[in-house]
Amino acid sequence: MPDDQRLYQVLADHFQFSSFKPGQKEVLSALLAGRQTLAMLPTGAGKSLIYQMMGYLRPGTVVIVTPLLSLMQDQVARLNYMGESAVVALNSTLTGAAKQAVLQQLGHYKFVFISPEMLGQKAVIEAFKRIRLNLLVIDEAHTMVSWGPDFRPDYLSLPTLHQALGRPQLLMLTATATPTMIQELKTAFGATDDWYTYVQSVDRPNIHLHTEQLPDHKAKDQRLLTLVQTLRGPGIIYFSSRKLATTMANWLQTETGRQVVAYHGGLDQVARYRIQQQYMAGDIDVIAATSAFGMGIDKADIRYVIHYHLSSDIPSYLQEIGRAGRDGQPALAVSLYVPGDERLQLHLIDQGIPSSQTIERFATKQGERTGIADVQQRLLTYYLDLAGYSIPQVKAFFGQRRSQRQTDLYQLVQYVQANEHLRAQLMH
Ligand code: ADP
Ligand code: MG
Repeated sequence: MPDDQRLYQVLADHFQFSSFKPGQKEVLSALLAGRQTLAMLPTGAGKSLIYQMMGYLRPGTVVIVTPLLSLMQDQVARLNYMGESAVVALNSTLTGAAKQAVLQQLGHYKFVFISPEMLGQKAVIEAFKRIRLNLLVIDEAHTMVSWGPDFRPDYLSLPTLHQALGRPQLLMLTATATPTMIQELKTAFGATDDWYTYVQSVDRPNIHLHTEQLPDHKAKDQRLLTLVQTLRGPGIIYFSSRKLATTMANWLQTETGRQVVAYHGGLDQVARYRIQQQYMAGDIDVIAATSAFGMGIDKADIRYVIHYHLSSDIPSYLQEIGRAGRDGQPALAVSLYVPGDERLQLHLIDQGIPSSQTIERFATKQGERTGIADVQQRLLTYYLDLAGYSIPQVKAFFGQRRSQRQTDLYQLVQYVQANEHLRAQLMH
């Protein structure tokens, strides 16, 4: 059977899907051709299906290194639900006896989920060397090199372990990695030219980015009203407060005669589900949302996304505007900005700053003790790199206005995001 036909057959037989999501088939083809592979696909793109498919396409055991116990448990549960019994999670929750039993029968499993710590144990490596490996998967691979809050030192031993296992075929999966991080990951594993890298770009050329600065909130409300009156929907407006999302939805509905409905995490499941269905069906024109809206919404024809408030960070912003124009037709992303708006976000973001423990951990990554300022600098590099800016560009710009007040990492990121003119200056 030709490869292509076989792919669709396994997809239908085991997953009851009739088509692949973008990237899945490309990555599977590279894997079947025997290439070492790194794939960057956004959250929800269906990365798990790729290695699950490999389990059914080839003999041997698929080993999946996963950073979090909860992710591991979730994946095992999903496979069990599909009727797969040859699956196990090898982690610190197993008793010694249970672990022994699993290791003795290792070759019997189609899928083994494992923590990097466990894979590092000698007896475990030896057991894996005795069986036929189908594929070694490193899920959330960016945690190996990221300077971000979820950095995991244990992941650093993976290249050595890969070597110890006799360099089996590798699949590294990530949803967020900057070009620098992708390079670092590949270098860590001694990548050669024949590696396959699939990067689903966050660049969405059909979405037109636009920022408007307004003198005060009254002007902002008026501008929002005009936009909702004139733009052709469906649309989403993002607010960072539930209360404001609700009052603005009512106001906009009264003023424009369009169906504008608030959606936030304070609504019960039933209400949320109903709103989603109505929006999908075209019975609602505009959603006045908090960041709770979006996950799992796959509406192709959203024509605009307006940010009444700034997003909490650049990855969220990219995700939120990325909901527009999935059909490839032109779409608009508008940020309405009143000077001082970033203060609200700063307040909200404070709770999301990584714990001092996390900071300690990655500050000492290279055996050196770095100060908090340095760590922040790295986080900043990380966020800006994601957004396509470089540190020297930002420094050059901020060098001129140092005196104002000490520039906080997050404020800087918000500021860059909110100012189209700054973006323009930074980009060349
Ligand atoms: P990721 O790990 O990339 O965030 P998941 O593997 O958790 O994403 O998959 C997200 C969702 O997409 C799951 O509910 C999965 O069943 C679904 N999915 C994956 N592949 C397909 C496909 N080809 N067609 C339809 N749904 C899919
Ligand atoms: Mg995943």
